[in-house]
Amino acid sequence: MSTKVAIINVKDYENTPDAVVAGIKLIEDDLKFDFLKAKKILIKPNLLSANKKACTQPSIVEGVINYLKQFGVSMDHVIVGDSPGQLKISASKVAKEIGLFEICEKEGVKIVNFEDGTPINGEIKGAIRMNEFYVAKAVYDCDILINIPKLKTHAETTITGAIKNYWGIIPGGQKAKLHLLGKSAEKFGEVLADNFSWIVNNKPRRLIVYDLQKIMQGPKGPGAGKMVDWNLILAGTDELAVDVVALEIGKYNAKFVPHLKNAKERELGIGNLEDIEIVGMTLEDAKKQVPKFKVPGKFITRMASFFSGRTFYKVAKKIPKLNEKDCEKCGQCAEICPADAINFEAKHYPRFIRKKCIACLCCMEMCPQHAIEVKSRGIGGLFHSY
Ligand code: SF4
Ligand code: SF4
Repeated sequence: MSTKVAIINVKDYENTPDAVVAGIKLIEDDLKFDFLKAKKILIKPNLLSANKKACTQPSIVEGVINYLKQFGVSMDHVIVGDSPGQLKISASKVAKEIGLFEICEKEGVKIVNFEDGTPINGEIKGAIRMNEFYVAKAVYDCDILINIPKLKTHAETTITGAIKNYWGIIPGGQKAKLHLLGKSAEKFGEVLADNFSWIVNNKPRRLIVYDLQKIMQGPKGPGAGKMVDWNLILAGTDELAVDVVALEIGKYNAKFVPHLKNAKERELGIGNLEDIEIVGMTLEDAKKQVPKFKVPGKFITRMASFFSGRTFYKVAKKIPKLNEKDCEKCGQCAEICPADAINFEAKHYPRFIRKKCIACLCCMEMCPQHAIEVKSRGIGGLFHSY
């Protein structure tokens, strides 16, 4: 089995939407479905928060819309949707903040909040940790799913990209609660792979357009970090393959990312570079064009992801730390914490209960003020239980 991944240098085109259209055209042979026959086409960008840097760039969504229009698809059949990480914000609000709303309005494309409507109970056959979940109705109903991830570092899951972007198909606060099913980076990687396996088994018609134009890296990912110009876009039909290619371009080994390692072991996609046909720009040229993708964490942290040893994991575990000067005492971190590990009283700073903390870092990801940092638990972690 093999799959195609297109690498496009955005600088070779007049604008980003044109580069996106060119990228999709290069892998058209792998699209084994007809856009014109679909009644519901869902575009799923990463709309994490009202911070433009943390989201898929609107111009890439615009490129996908342009491609569909050129194909003759009526925009009555196309929607854009997501469920942001933060509790008190919707996808449409994020879209307004980052400039995506205007594009969708101009093109007649509706934006859907995944929290709206009753979520559908989904069974996950062959799951390791998450046998069932509730998936957004818009995802459940769609005939074609177009995933538009953005590459960012992630304090808990190492990276967020094509496979991780599907975590957003779970509406609202349920996402955070499900961290209790995998209380280590390795085990949560299995949960993410379970979630992805539902997509593989239930949504066979998929396209991925990967935002590598400006990637985000640093210890506060995926909510905040340093932007680095890569000026690339990937297109493909296999999420694991595009994630592997993205990391190869950044000179980072995908085997250190728990959910990618698990997805490969379960054959949920194509994870060997030799089985991926690169079209467009060569892999070597793309690698020369970009600096090394800097994933935070020392060697021991990467090893903890590689070997799932419990003791080893505890030593390397990351825990949240509050920066009081940035905190506005809103209490959202306590509201989202799945382990009830944050004490919050109105007008006071939140307090972390270390013994209860499962190190999911949802509080850091969802703090609107980016007032939470991550620090290594250190040797003391050995004496706490989870
Ligand atoms: S840390 Fe962030 S989410 Fe928590 S109370 Fe402070 S500002 Fe709000
Ligand atoms: S305190 Fe933060 S990192 Fe710890 S369990 Fe709660 S949300 Fe997760």
